[in-house]
Amino acid sequence: MRLLSNKYRLLLLLTLILAAGFVATSLASYLASRQAIEHGIADQTLPLTGDNIYSEIQKDMLRPVFISSLMAHDTFVRDWILAGEIDSRQIVRYLAEVKKKYGAITSFLISDKSSKYYYAEGTLKSVSPKAARDIWYYRVRNMTGRDYETNVDIDMANRDSMTIFINHRVHDYDGRFIGATGIGLTLDTMSHIIDRYQARFHRNIYFVDGKGAIVLAGKTMRERNKGQGNIRNLPGVRDIAGQILNRQTEPTHLSYQCEHAQILVNSRHIPELGWYLVVEQNVSDEVKSLQGVFILNLAISFGVTLLVLLLTLLTVNRYQQRIERIASTDALTGLLNRQSLELLFQRASLQSRRTAQPLSAILFDIDFFKRVNDTHGHLWGDKVIVGVADVARATVRENDIITRWGGEEYLVLLNNCSLAQAQQVAEALRLAVASHDFGLPVPPLPVTISLGVTVYQHADSESAFFSRADSALYQAKEAGRNCMQTA
Ligand code: GH3
Ligand code: MG
Ligand code: MG
Repeated sequence: MRLLSNKYRLLLLLTLILAAGFVATSLASYLASRQAIEHGIADQTLPLTGDNIYSEIQKDMLRPVFISSLMAHDTFVRDWILAGEIDSRQIVRYLAEVKKKYGAITSFLISDKSSKYYYAEGTLKSVSPKAARDIWYYRVRNMTGRDYETNVDIDMANRDSMTIFINHRVHDYDGRFIGATGIGLTLDTMSHIIDRYQARFHRNIYFVDGKGAIVLAGKTMRERNKGQGNIRNLPGVRDIAGQILNRQTEPTHLSYQCEHAQILVNSRHIPELGWYLVVEQNVSDEVKSLQGVFILNLAISFGVTLLVLLLTLLTVNRYQQRIERIASTDALTGLLNRQSLELLFQRASLQSRRTAQPLSAILFDIDFFKRVNDTHGHLWGDKVIVGVADVARATVRENDIITRWGGEEYLVLLNNCSLAQAQQVAEALRLAVASHDFGLPVPPLPVTISLGVTVYQHADSESAFFSRADSALYQAKEAGRNCMQTA
């Protein structure tokens, strides 16, 4: 019973150790991988995406800025205004040449003195501070600290034709403001770039202006809020809107939570546009595959644990059986020992009481065994003990139980056997031993046994039963040995 509970305690302990070990390692590797993914996204993926988009934009943006700057610093333009805008055909030809050469949608010049708006086909109009469409000019006129601004007209109806105007201040040779010039170009590649990046890398990409209004967004964002809105109002992003709009040209790492998903954010200021480029990635999406691996790990661990438990159980059972066998048998003769007799007697006596079948016992002892030991040595003595056991085994029925009672004493328990039958068996045993050749060297001492026979009485205790057999054996010894007595 103790052995049994010890066994299950061992199995439980093993299970706990294995489970704890497997869960700990699986969890540790899951967390480490998750951290690696987060770092990878925050430190490499998002900044790289930002860098790529930024450099594509710069390619598109720098050219018109450069052209507008050339126009604003062109001595011809400045001299022509300063000279009083005499021949408008000259400036119109100039603007037409610029437009053609650089593939611009439009080129323009506004003179502050005359308020006239010149473009590639002539004089368009006069600008007025009262006209809403001309507000930009007065903004540029009042601008300090910067020489130009970018003004992007986004055609909401037709996303592919986005026009960017570079409005550059023109100064005279003493630095006084005398007008504005610049060109308008399409930036239609930009939304394509965004969509491409978004589709390939599952990233959300959008641009916001200095106030946080979304000016240009990829497909998902366009569909979600029609490409409009302000990040200061969008759930999740609004928590970090202030940090996004921080005028940092270096990328900023940020993150926010939205509907239980963790979103990593990379934002940078693009001075050429006065916009912020925001690249977002949902970490939870990336981590999902890790969770699959985690579950698989646990499943494998579960299988391994089961296998280990099964092997342990089998091994323990085998050793347990072996130990039980060793504990219950006599090493020299292979007979059951006296310890196991207790259990066997209980079972046999119970059966005898239940079935009313007689139960008998024969206790026998080798006569003058000391002489064998003394004459031929202990090894020969052992051989005789084994030999007598073999003779007894061959003589009794198969379901009779022979045990080694002590040194050279044996006890046979005979199930369903009356006293008379037991006496017959005892006599047969005595004759078999006496006639057996044990192969002893010269002088060949005779090997005989004395036997005591008894039958089980109802309500006999174990000691009463065996001591009766013992006194019968004693009587046999007293009667001159090599004989049988009954109690
Ligand atoms: P008796 O006829 O009165 O039984 O005389 P005995 O010489 O057989 O006397 P007893 O039964 O007292 O002696 C038993 C001897 O058996 C004593 C002991 O040294 C020896 N003996 C007990 N176990 C073993 C064993 O396993 N191997 C050997 N070789 N001798 C044993
Ligand atoms: Mg003896
Ligand atoms: Mg003895």
